[in-house]
Amino acid sequence: MEEKEERFDIAVVGGGPAGLSAAYTAAMAGAKVILFEKDQSIAHNIRTSGVTWISEMERLGMPSKFYNPIQNYRFVSPSNDVIIRGDAAKSCVLDVRAAYQHLAFLAAREGAQLMIKSIVTDVIKEGQRVAGVKASTPAGKLTVHSRLVIDASGFSTSVGRKAGVVDQWSRYGVGAEYECYCDDIDSTTWALMVGQNYSDAGYAWFFPLSKNRVRVGVGIGRPESNAEPLEKLNNIIEKRFKPLDAIGDGKIQPLELHYGFIPNEGVRHNSIADGLIMVGDSAGQSNPLVLEGIRYAIEFGRLAGEVGADSLSHNSDRESLLQYERSWKAKAESRIHSALKVQMRWIGLTDEQWDKEIEILRDMTVDEFLDFIKADFSRVNMMKLALHHPKVVARQLFNMILKS
Ligand SMILES: Cc1cc2nc3c(=O)[nH]c(=O)nc-3n(C[C@H](O)[C@H](O)[C@H](O)COP(=O)(O)OP(=O)(O)OC[C@H]3O[C@@H](n4cnc5c(N)ncnc54)[C@H](O)[C@@H]3O)c2cc1C
Repeated sequence: MEEKEERFDIAVVGGGPAGLSAAYTAAMAGAKVILFEKDQSIAHNIRTSGVTWISEMERLGMPSKFYNPIQNYRFVSPSNDVIIRGDAAKSCVLDVRAAYQHLAFLAAREGAQLMIKSIVTDVIKEGQRVAGVKASTPAGKLTVHSRLVIDASGFSTSVGRKAGVVDQWSRYGVGAEYECYCDDIDSTTWALMVGQNYSDAGYAWFFPLSKNRVRVGVGIGRPESNAEPLEKLNNIIEKRFKPLDAIGDGKIQPLELHYGFIPNEGVRHNSIADGLIMVGDSAGQSNPLVLEGIRYAIEFGRLAGEVGADSLSHNSDRESLLQYERSWKAKAESRIHSALKVQMRWIGLTDEQWDKEIEILRDMTVDEFLDFIKADFSRVNMMKLALHHPKVVARQLFNMILKS
């Protein structure tokens, strides 16, 4: 096989939402960009369940044909069941493959070179600075010298770790999910399920894509539990635990198995170094309450591409990348930190405690609920909830967030 060496302004590692978005804005700003994705197609292996928020998708320009709108939100615990009904759809479940391929279209149209089935195996360093990557591609081995590398490799943080800038995540979530054919379901309501039957350190989910297509999954926190999410998931489907009981004797058949890991210890303290930006899951940019990071990956991916392209005239040294780190931290760090506190409280709850905890949600308006689950913990919102919520346990929860 051929061995080649090339020069690019920016090498992006990872063709998930963060990498594709970074490649898009960097190429749009005029940088010469190459992106490596190890899988054989964009979104070939789906590692996410794709729930996000319609307002965020609209703001980010994601066309509505790529998602199923959700209006109602259900929480199921062993002996409790709460449903919060909205007047309009505010959440949605993405057609992940189509949505990510749309992001790839945008990057390609701006001129980014996309390399699929191309795994980055090593990083080139010149002294302390990251100066490029080595990859194995269908056309042979490729060495890319670049002024900036954007590590958007997700949970693995391939480049950041190989460059010795960050360590492996020690707290994380592991999730298994089936995307299923299903006889007639309510396509406007998603559900989260908690308690031992579903997950001993996490939760399970039921996210509809249409009346006949649903993602059913289980997430488990490590190191709190060593349970295998797929075993729990098989049991949920076999026993038809709520809300699958509503299918009755109807059919539910898996079409795809998705499996993934997500960091769950807050954000990386350090997301930049000389010649290196980390973005998306590699930087810990996800909300640990419902393990959601797609909107952050797109938004901060775009930011990384913009700041990265700007930094080229300063040789992309750390100083020239500070604006990226400051901007994303200002937007997300304290929310993620507060959400982590709620999650730490949730991860140890017994079945009985869960039955009480989800009562907190019953008295919330749909907007309060959405702010909460999105980790939009503004001081004013939390103060209002902490002062006026009728339940003591709820006031404790909101006070805890206020103090974080
Ligand atoms: C089970 C589960 C459920 C989730 N559910 C939701 C949800 O409902 N809503 C939500 O918003 N978020 C959800 N998330 C989180 C969300 O998936 C992530 O926050 C998001 O995918 C982060 O995007 P990313 O681009 O940083 O990383 P990824 O999407 O992981 O993309 C990284 C890409 O890099 C590639 N790659 C890795 N290493 C290399 C290498 N060495 N060379 C080349 N390519 C490489 C990978 O193949 C991958 O395509 C979930 C996560 C999990 C695990």
